[in-house]
Amino acid sequence: MSSNISVYKICGFCGLEFLAKKTTTKYCSLKCASKDYKRRLKNQKIENSNLQTIKIKNQPLIDLKDKEFLRVRQLALLLGFSVKTVYRLINTKRINAHNFSKRKTLIRRSDIDVLFDQPRIGFEIVLQPTEQGKQAEIKDCYTITEIQKKFNISSGALYNLIKRNNINKFSNGKFTYVAKKDIEGFLK
Ligand SMILES: [Zn+2]
Repeated sequence: MSSNISVYKICGFCGLEFLAKKTTTKYCSLKCASKDYKRRLKNQKIENSNLQTIKIKNQPLIDLKDKEFLRVRQLALLLGFSVKTVYRLINTKRINAHNFSKRKTLIRRSDIDVLFDQPRIGFEIVLQPTEQGKQAEIKDCYTITEIQKKFNISSGALYNLIKRNNINKFSNGKFTYVAKKDIEGFLK
C-alpha cells in the first residue's frame, strides 16, 4: 500500500526520530530493523535457556510428587525442610517412617498427605505432649538455661525450636520451664 503521507516515528532500535511513509513502520532503516530482529532473537534464546534451567532445577521436585515412597533427603526437598528436621520429625514420631537399614529409611508418601488431610486432629495429638491442662512437675522439667547448657544450644535457637514445634513452656517464679520429655526428643 503506497501513500504520500509522512509521519514522524521513533525508531524501535536506535530510538531516533525519523520520517516514515507508513504509520506501521517501526524502524528508521533496514539496518535497525535487522539489528532489532537479532536482539529479539538473542533475548528469546536467553529466555529459553533460563526457562530450561528453572525446569531442570524443579525436575527433582516434580518427580518426587509421583513417588510412593520417599527417602529422608527426598522428603526434605519436597517439604522444604532440612534433612535434620525430617530426622527429628521421624524421631519424635510425628512422621511415620520405616528403617530398612542404616541410610535406608523410607517414608510413605500417602502418610504425609494424610497429615494434611486432618491437620486439626494431628495438631491436638502431637502438639500437646503434656497431659491436658496439667503442667509437668518441676523435677521433670528443665529451665531454659539448663537446656542451653546441657544441649549446647543458643537461647535464640532454643526459643525458635520451642516456638516452631509448639512445645509447652511455663513460668514459675523467675524461671521458664519445659518438660524434659517434651524437649529431649528434639535435642538428642
Ligand atoms: Zn534506527
